Parts: sequence; C-alpha cells; structure tokens
Amino acid sequence: NLSLKLDRAFKTLKGTGKITEINVATTVKEIRRALIDADVNYKVAKEVTDKIKDEAMGRDVLISVSPGQLLVKITQEELTKLMGGSKVDIKLSGDPAVILISGLQGSGKTTFTGKLGAFLKKNGRQVLLVACDIYRPAAIDQLKVLGEQIGVEVYSEPENKNALQIANNAIAHAKKTGKKTVIVDTAGRLAVDEQMMQEIEQLKKALNPSETLFVVDSMTGQDAVNTAKTFDERLDFDGVVLTKLDGDTRGGAAISIRHVVNKPIKFISTGEKMENLDIFHPDRMAQRILGMGDVISLVERAQQAFDEDEAKRINAKIRQNNFNFDDFLSQLEQVKKMGNIKDLMGMIPGMGKAMKGLDIDDDSFKPIEAIIRSMTPKERQQPDIINGSRRKRIADGSGRNITEVNNLMKQFDDMRKLMKQMNKMGGAKQALGRMM
Ligand code: GDP
Ligand code: MG
Repeated sequence: NLSLKLDRAFKTLKGTGKITEINVATTVKEIRRALIDADVNYKVAKEVTDKIKDEAMGRDVLISVSPGQLLVKITQEELTKLMGGSKVDIKLSGDPAVILISGLQGSGKTTFTGKLGAFLKKNGRQVLLVACDIYRPAAIDQLKVLGEQIGVEVYSEPENKNALQIANNAIAHAKKTGKKTVIVDTAGRLAVDEQMMQEIEQLKKALNPSETLFVVDSMTGQDAVNTAKTFDERLDFDGVVLTKLDGDTRGGAAISIRHVVNKPIKFISTGEKMENLDIFHPDRMAQRILGMGDVISLVERAQQAFDEDEAKRINAKIRQNNFNFDDFLSQLEQVKKMGNIKDLMGMIPGMGKAMKGLDIDDDSFKPIEAIIRSMTPKERQQPDIINGSRRKRIADGSGRNITEVNNLMKQFDDMRKLMKQMNKMGGAKQALGRMM
C-alpha cells in the first residue's frame, strides 16, 4: 500500500527541524519507489524525485508543518507542475466543431464519445455523434444505445465501409440540422497497426478537427505510454483522455504520458456510466497518485488552525504585552494536537529560546501543564502576583517540586521579556517605515 510506504518514508524525517541532504535522501528514495509502484515510469520517477530533492533542500520548515509533511507538499506541487499545472479545456471552433476520437480498441473510445456528448449537451451545445467504427457492426449499436440514453442523435451508415465518407456525410447532416458539435468515434485495433493508423491519419487531415483526442486505458501502465507516443507521432493529437481510473488504479500513467508526449490530459473517465467523466485537474491527480489526500488536508488544516485564529489572538496579546499562562497553556495544547513538537515550538515567540537545551517530547510538557493547571485563574492571567508562598502552594498542588515551579516562572519571564523586546523592535521598524 502506497500510503503506508510513504508513511514509512516520512517517518525518517519526523522530528528534524530542517530539511537536509541526509534526512531527505532516504525519504526521496521511498517516494521514488512509491511512484514507480503507482505506474510512473522509472526514468520519470527519478527525474521527479531529483527535482523534489532540489526543491526541498535547505527549505526552512514552516512553523506548523513538519519536514515530512512539507516534503509531501513539495512532492504534490512538483507532480502538479509535471502534469501541466492547471486544467486545459478542449477547443471548440468551426461550424460545426469537429472532435475526433482516437485510440486502441477497448480503450474506451465509444464510451467516452457518449460521455463527452452528454457533457457538451449539459453545457448547452447541440451535439451529433458519428459511428465511424466500420469494422465491427456491434460498435454502431453500442453508440446508438448510448445516444438514446443521453438524448443525443447518432449518425451512422451501416452499409458504408468508408469511414471518411461517413464522417463527411455526418458533417453535412450536422450543418443541415443545426448541430454545432460533431464527435467522431473511430475504430481501433488491439495493437497499433498500419492500416488503422493510416485511416485515422486520413480522417484527421480531411476533417481538420478542432480537437483530436487520444483515449487510453490507464490500467495498461507502460504500454499506455508507448501507445501514446506512437499515436502522437502520427496524429499530433491535442489532448489525452485517461480511462478506467476507477477502482484502485493510481494514475501514474498520467505523469508518464504527459512527460513523454507533452500534451495535456483533458478528461478522466472513472467508470462505465455516462456520468463517470471528470475534467482533468493536475493538482487532484497529484493528490491521487500520492494517495495521501488525508495527509495533505491535515497539513492544510494545521496551517489554518495555527495561522489564522489562534496566531492572530496570541499576536494581539503579545503586542499588548499581555501574554499570560492561559495563552501559554492554549499554545501547548495546540502544539500537542499537531504533533512533532520541536518543529512547532517556534510558533510561540521566544519559546524556542526559552526551551533551548531541553529535550522536548510530548511527556516533557506534562510537568509544565501540571504546574500551570495548579494555578488559580487569577494567577494565570496575572503571573506577576505569583510570589513565594503561591509558588509553594502551586508546587504542592501539582506534585512537582519548587525548583521546577521556579524554573517555569523564570522561563516564562524570559519569554515575556523577549516578546517585549520584539514589540519594541517592531515599533522601531514601523517608525522607520513611516519616515521613509
Ligand atoms: P473502444 O473499443 O475504445 O470503443 O472501447 P469501449 O468504449 O467499447 O470500452 C471498452 C470497455 O471498457 C467497455 O466494456 C466499457 O464499458 C469499458 N469502459 C470504458 N471506460 C471505462 C471506465 O472509465 N471505467 C471502466 N471500469 N470501464 C470502462
Ligand atoms: Mg468503440
């Protein structure tokens, strides 16, 4: 399972605050293995992970994200870029606009022809489907059934054995009946063969389609890439349709194909039903390939939770020199929720320094928490009132010794001093800014 493998890969990084060559190497190797398992071609996987490594090296770890999580993000970003960055729409120009469907037999051309018809109809276009698979009589019926299902007319000439003639007649028919889009379904062989190639080449030359799509079964892995290459050399198609991405197909083929032919993937097909069609979004596919949507959204949630609400509130308190033990406690709670405490310490200004030299893990917060919880609400809000006798009472109440209480008070004091200093510096900078 890919997620598990990546989990293992990222574990290596847990607890380290900065991404360095050493802690990246193992992880990158694991990511590469995971990509290959997801059907990404070996060479491509290597290129991707080399890029990820370059990108990740030396990047400071964001305050609320662990290095492992950051690497996940970088990986996702790189994969997204590799698949073109953002979606690319199909081009519909001409009257009628002609869309030519190419691909091997069984790749899902006829099914996709129906789906695209339904999709365009939904977008308000008048569509005509054309059955140009002249070799299999059943293919015409298959398209007719789909056409009926989606309420779109299907043009066919069962007796005619000339695909180009049929297509030309269909276009004439579309003009006559006011159809603005013609989708031409074609024949395919089980493997690339010369006759089929010549036929589709001829169709493309004669019909001058505004969009030629290459349909490919994503489950065929490396074969899909080779077929794409062959078709592109002959047809110079405009876009790719990836089919059979339902089930647990990872979709690594998307990266390989994009990489090899450098043509955008425009649609993905995720089932046999007419509604199982999606516009291709590189970012979503990257997420799918990594199989770690959960991790990514978790990272994002963590960032949000920290950045927005709490950080704003705490920053306001710091600016007013008003940071107290309640705030301290709430920060500790947040930090604990996020895990990977060392990386998160920097979130609290001054905290990193105050805690320096301490070996920090979840348990090292327990005594601190116990001490703070033994303070009265008033003591937490106004730490200055905590005198000697109060310290003794707090130590007894929390089951810690007086030295620990004193240490915490000292650390907290240092922290507040630093915060004050930062405020002054910020104030000076602002004043300078106003003068300039
Ligand atoms: P063609 O020979 O290229 O026209 O391929 P078809 O459209 O006839 O599809 C071949 C088989 O694949 C049919 O049984 C389809 O129902 C099935 N199929 C097509 N697209 C998908 C898909 O996205 N997912 C699944 N599971 N099956 C599909
Ligand atoms: Mg077919």
